[in-house]
Amino acid sequence: MMSIKKEEFNEMIFTRINDLINEYELIKEGEKIAIALSGGKDSVLTLYALKNYHENCGFDFELVAISVDEGIEGYRQHGIDAAVNNAKLLDIPLIQKSFKDEEGFALDEIYSYFKSACIPCGVFRRNILNKTAYEIGADKIATGHNLDDEIQSFLMSFSRGDTVKFSKFGPELNQIHEKLVPRIKPLWNTPEKEVGMWAILNGIEIHLDECPYSNLSLRAKIKEFLNNTESKHPGTKENVLESFKQILDVENIRTVLNECERCGEPTSAKICKACEIKDIVYENLDEK
Ligand code: SF4
Ligand SMILES: [Zn+2]
Repeated sequence: MMSIKKEEFNEMIFTRINDLINEYELIKEGEKIAIALSGGKDSVLTLYALKNYHENCGFDFELVAISVDEGIEGYRQHGIDAAVNNAKLLDIPLIQKSFKDEEGFALDEIYSYFKSACIPCGVFRRNILNKTAYEIGADKIATGHNLDDEIQSFLMSFSRGDTVKFSKFGPELNQIHEKLVPRIKPLWNTPEKEVGMWAILNGIEIHLDECPYSNLSLRAKIKEFLNNTESKHPGTKENVLESFKQILDVENIRTVLNECERCGEPTSAKICKACEIKDIVYENLDEK
């Protein structure tokens, strides 16, 4: 087996991330960047990479991390521990939120009302992250989406015929509503395999368990398909990303957002997804 030198690998992975941040100007002087920190390998690398960028970029900006506990028994606590310990190690303040405190229920209590647990999970997590980042005056939210996540999401939108979601493609999502904190994805062109290698080579504490609900999702099936294809035809994933970049004008896709009639959060409809999902949750809880 080819031996990999830790320093060379770190240099390679951080240089690519720094180059992406510079190329797309993902971070500007004086900004407050909120890192979505689940404790999984992608979010933990994002934390280390932005700390590294902060030390080397030659200008100042502020870093804060936000973790969201979805309420998945036997799974989430390991992630929270990894988030707390890594944030402490890097001296980055961490704000901890949970579905239970913010919405009144844990994911475990409500997931069965939906075709996939990932539907309410993703909607509430995004909602809580955005609200928290907005409240603390963050200029951007940095997420750990890597190259694999990005092309999976894109193929999922293709599979569902959901072309509106194409606007979420790219390393930076522009601010399209005053209350929607723009997102940046510093790992946008970093393959998932390398994220795992980085964590192992550096002995970083990360949360490695698979979510108990993940195998039920369309994403899991698309991920399996892409991994199988990549192992038989190396380079497939990068080619898919390249094709998307060429087909879509990443810089120029816009969606118009209003405010939800009920909660005031930004949405493309009259009622936001979180409020729609809460209706389903309460209907089902009432029937119990
Ligand atoms: S796999 Fe689905 S349910 Fe599990 S944490 Fe991810 S989005 Fe939530
Ligand atoms: Zn709403």
